[in-house]
Amino acid sequence: MATMYYAADCDLKNLEGKVVTIIGYGSQGHAHAKNLKDSGVHVVIGLRPEGKSWEVAKADGFDVLSVAEAAKKGDVVMILIPDELQAAVYEKEIAPNLKPGAALAFAHGFNIRYGYIKPPAGVDVFLAAPKGPGHTVRSQYVEGFGVPSLIAIEVDATGRAKETALAYLAGIGGARAGILETTFTEETETDLFGEQTVLCGGVVDLMRAGFEVLTEAGYSKEAAYFECVHELKLIIDLVNKFGVSGMDFSISDTAEYGQYVSGPRVVPLEQAKENMRGVLKDIQDGTFAKNWVAEHEAGRPLFTKKREEIQQHPMETTGKELREKMVWGRNDIDLV
Ligand code: NAD
Ligand code: MG
Repeated sequence: MATMYYAADCDLKNLEGKVVTIIGYGSQGHAHAKNLKDSGVHVVIGLRPEGKSWEVAKADGFDVLSVAEAAKKGDVVMILIPDELQAAVYEKEIAPNLKPGAALAFAHGFNIRYGYIKPPAGVDVFLAAPKGPGHTVRSQYVEGFGVPSLIAIEVDATGRAKETALAYLAGIGGARAGILETTFTEETETDLFGEQTVLCGGVVDLMRAGFEVLTEAGYSKEAAYFECVHELKLIIDLVNKFGVSGMDFSISDTAEYGQYVSGPRVVPLEQAKENMRGVLKDIQDGTFAKNWVAEHEAGRPLFTKKREEIQQHPMETTGKELREKMVWGRNDIDLV
């Protein structure tokens, strides 16, 4: 069994009298900053003065400084700007300003795992990674719960890296759900694999294929959206709480029989696994990382084209119209 930590294993006192600098105020940044602040931690935000987030973070009541100034103040410096920008910002604005004995922290291991960031000696390096979108990290915390999270210690220069990391994870709410001990390598490789094959890559292509097959066969876009997109969450909520067997208990036996006979026709298991092994190999040998950095440096031609294509897809335009008329419950997620 892998090691898990919970609230009783964490002590927020390990951040007392310390400054936690959060670089970036996007999806993860705003959530970490607000949760830590609500947990009583002294938080400072580092941003580009001309960036859009500057005013947002200020309006939320934070001390906002340039990245360089904020890095100077941090006992913990958490880097929460996009992965493909981190190396350049680190090199120019963070590295020259890190306090000796500070901790450098990440929510994804990409730049350490592939060597784009090489921290100096004497600095702790840890990973505190919620396994969920930033906006959920905030909404769950507000609900009194948290998102399951990962901890990894790459460098323990001070002998206190783990205590600091656990306190940080308690502060963002992760300890309420459970903190799994891992390494930068395992986190990076499994994270990229999960999002590419199942969570984002696999699932979006499945929803899209289902939507297209139904609408091309003459069914209404609305019916196709409800069946192949909207209902996915309702099913996954059951899996999330009760496992696949629990979901199977709730659905009809007709649906369950269909799962067994038609699932393998759509996703032939051995073939899908073989394809996934190819994706995993590209992640492990650095091919994916190299391609993504090159794509970003070339001005993101494929990324931009694909994003526009999906935004204009009838699955998206239909969904937008239907969602606008829906009444949303209490645990709403806001894409601020
Ligand atoms: P994001 O795209 O939401 O963050 C953008 C923020 O970075 C904005 O505040 C922007 O102003 C700031 N920024 C951009 N360029 C900057 C620069 N040059 N200098 C200073 N600030 C700059 O990022 P994110 O999705 O929250 O990802 C942050 C980290 O968290 C990444 O390592 C990512 O892998 C990891 N992570 C993200 C999620 C998620 O839910 N999005 C989940 C787990 C881990
Ligand atoms: Mg992920």
